[in-house]
Amino acid sequence: MADAETFAFQAEINQLLSLIINTFYSNKEIFLRELISNSSDALDKIRYKSLTDKSKLDGQPELFIRLLPDKANKTLSIIDSGIGMTKADLVNNLGTIARSGTKEFMEALQAGADVSMIGQFGVGFYSAYLVAEKVIVTSKHNDDEQYIWESQAGGSFTVTRDVSGEQLGRGTKITLFLKEDQLEYLEERRIKDLVKKHSEFISYPIYLWTEKTTEKEISDDEDDEPKKEEEGDVEDVDEEKEEKKSKKKKIKEVSHEWQLINKQKPIWLRKPEEITKEEYASFYKSLTNDWEDHLAVKHFSVEGQLEFKAILFVPKRAPFDLFDTRKKMNNIKLYVRRVFIMDNCEELIPEYLGFVKGVVDSDDLPLNISREMLQQNKILKVIRKNLVKKCIEMFNEIAENKEDYKKFYEAFSKNLKLGIHEDSQNRAKIADLLRYHSTKSGEEMTSLKDYVTRMKEGQKDIYYITGESKKAVENSPFLERLKKKGYEVLFMVDAIDEYAVGQLKEYDGKKLVSATKEGLKLDDSEEEKKKKEEKKKSFENLCKIIKDILGDKVEKVVVSDRIVDSPCCLVTGEYGWSANMERIMKAQALRDNSMSSYMSSKKTMEINPDNGIMEELRKRAEADKNDKSVKDLVMLLFETALLTSGFSLDDPNTFAARIHRMLKLGLSIDEDETAGDDVDMPALEEDVAEESKMEEVD
Ligand code: ADP
Repeated sequence: MADAETFAFQAEINQLLSLIINTFYSNKEIFLRELISNSSDALDKIRYKSLTDKSKLDGQPELFIRLLPDKANKTLSIIDSGIGMTKADLVNNLGTIARSGTKEFMEALQAGADVSMIGQFGVGFYSAYLVAEKVIVTSKHNDDEQYIWESQAGGSFTVTRDVSGEQLGRGTKITLFLKEDQLEYLEERRIKDLVKKHSEFISYPIYLWTEKTTEKEISDDEDDEPKKEEEGDVEDVDEEKEEKKSKKKKIKEVSHEWQLINKQKPIWLRKPEEITKEEYASFYKSLTNDWEDHLAVKHFSVEGQLEFKAILFVPKRAPFDLFDTRKKMNNIKLYVRRVFIMDNCEELIPEYLGFVKGVVDSDDLPLNISREMLQQNKILKVIRKNLVKKCIEMFNEIAENKEDYKKFYEAFSKNLKLGIHEDSQNRAKIADLLRYHSTKSGEEMTSLKDYVTRMKEGQKDIYYITGESKKAVENSPFLERLKKKGYEVLFMVDAIDEYAVGQLKEYDGKKLVSATKEGLKLDDSEEEKKKKEEKKKSFENLCKIIKDILGDKVEKVVVSDRIVDSPCCLVTGEYGWSANMERIMKAQALRDNSMSSYMSSKKTMEINPDNGIMEELRKRAEADKNDKSVKDLVMLLFETALLTSGFSLDDPNTFAARIHRMLKLGLSIDEDETAGDDVDMPALEEDVAEESKMEEVD
């Protein structure tokens, strides 16, 4: 025997192992599903390799999974003729390199998640320790010798070259030394039930080593003849040896055989109307490792010039790493004429639909297709187009049930919006699936379609406002005029809404118009128009004065058409960033700054001529152009408008100082002589200093 090398488990894996071993879980049986699923993956890998190079199968031509219970030694072995693991694979995959899901899974467990979720996090192998106190993995990969991995957890494992053991040819044998209270997993019945329950759709034959007892009559003189052997070992238990009543006697023959315990006809080949909801659910679970049923399923076949069958599923929740950019999400398995070709076939479905899971089985692709060939493959392009179409159909079906759609939308609305951004061909169709809160939707969300049915007579455009949250936008000054006119405004409060609406531009022939940008024009009656013109004229002068005071801070100052109550607001250019976009971009720390200088908003201040403050300001400004209080008030109005319009303050201290000064004024506390001289920054800074001095005295 070669020398054993000892390795320490990576810290997180070690933690995970302790958690698995020391916490009580009632659902331990899932270990078998996880190990069978690993075997199936390993078989997929070697089968795929063998498509281009038949000799890869030489070590072991047959593809199978075998379950071998051994009551005498209290072990259960799971044997597969999959790709196997080299020594390096054993060291890396089973202990020294932690998957990204390791930590997430532990957190989920501690938050009360069920241990059956383990497969979703990519650490299913370790579930072996739910039932075993020791695990031995023997593995043979085409590129290496046979090695043995062994561990009783407890911080370390060993890897040893296997020189004398039974040779696998190719594949992996996992032997579980069962804990005393887990011996049920040696029972034939239990194992069969488990395979039926969790591994029914494995597309390789699963064999169980079973014991068969047959009664046989033999004559006495045959007694000395050699025992008849069936496949496997044969034992004789001739209890009736004593009964030598007749010439003939009965003996019980116990034989063993590998019994096939799964049907492997793929579910997608069957007729949809003959498949029950439970069957879809259990197929879905075996496909995805999900512990919950799917939310929706679409099973269809396409015939004609091109033929393929597919089953697509929408899960109930988003996975924990839905938008993890390190990991390209794609959950469609590709088969060619029943043979598994690959997972994660990127060409099959666009990124925004990466959360849709399922299988596609094509009759037209060549069996030996490689990833490189897939990229230009025309057949694949057609399949992809069909899949997208069917996905959208499926989402529309979900939308027929309010509760279901709510769940779906909470989990995947970001994907739909990404779809709006990326998929110009299907943009209009995806737009139908969008839902928003609005000034009229209350607790529910509304579709654009429903919005259109509620549009007021004379209303040409669809109005929306973007912002950080529903709360932040619902009382925004920008909505005042629109609300007064009875126009509904959609609240777009997802960061991605900014990008999506930027691409969508219109719905059902109606323009989508931002309530916070320039270009918002509301129709008025002739009389109203005339009144407004007059007002505008009378405020022209004030606009100029304000622009002078604010200088570069604003592009221009105009009389507003959109506010009713507030004194003023700040709008951005129709094609530049909104305040919300500016916020989002500022939050993306690593972004290149060059964009922001021209995209970040050129602000226009809009003032409300009907507001008392503005009226007073106008009077004062006209009486004395250099009135200091006018300057101070304008600055304060500007800064307040930044806040109510969704921007952030570059310098909150100066703003606070200004407010404090106003407070003092309101409370009739005398200003410091020098500070009163000038309202520009230096004076205000002194104010700040003085404030803090006062606090110290207190
Ligand atoms: P996952 O299967 O989700 O990747 P696991 O913890 O179950 O995570 O397994 C870790 C890795 O160990 C697998 O990705 C695979 O590379 C390897 N592995 C596990 N079981 C087998 C097996 N039966 N045959 C070959 N490789 C295996």
